[in-house]
Amino acid sequence: MTHQDDGARLSPSLYGDRRRLPWARPRPVLAFGWLEPGRPYRVGQCPVVVVAALERLEPVDRTRGFHACGFCEGAAAFAGAPHRTLDGRDLVLGSASLAVTVGGNRWVAPNLVLHYITAHGYLPPDEGVRGLGG
Ligand SMILES: [Zn+2]
Repeated sequence: MTHQDDGARLSPSLYGDRRRLPWARPRPVLAFGWLEPGRPYRVGQCPVVVVAALERLEPVDRTRGFHACGFCEGAAAFAGAPHRTLDGRDLVLGSASLAVTVGGNRWVAPNLVLHYITAHGYLPPDEGVRGLGG
């Protein structure tokens, strides 16, 4: 997965064909949750309402393969990371993004962000946390 600092402007050119990325237009898209081992990330207790809000988002920019979690060993290191939602649904993460508009800014994270929050203690940026009800 390509690391991006939280709040960095995501460039469609990073991913090739911008026609595949309708969420990337027309205004800048800001990154959150693009984590990679060896890069520090913000750690903290993410409010459960934020996790629930992220779980309710419709995934965008689905891919055919999976990005594995670089922090895990075992199954999550080789394929999509399993995630049980707060309302009991089973998701396999790593093959789509989540997009949310907060304070006029469009923020996009890999849907692995749910796994990063629940399994690795990642805390999204304050703007995103507030915008998602936290
Ligand atoms: Zn993991």
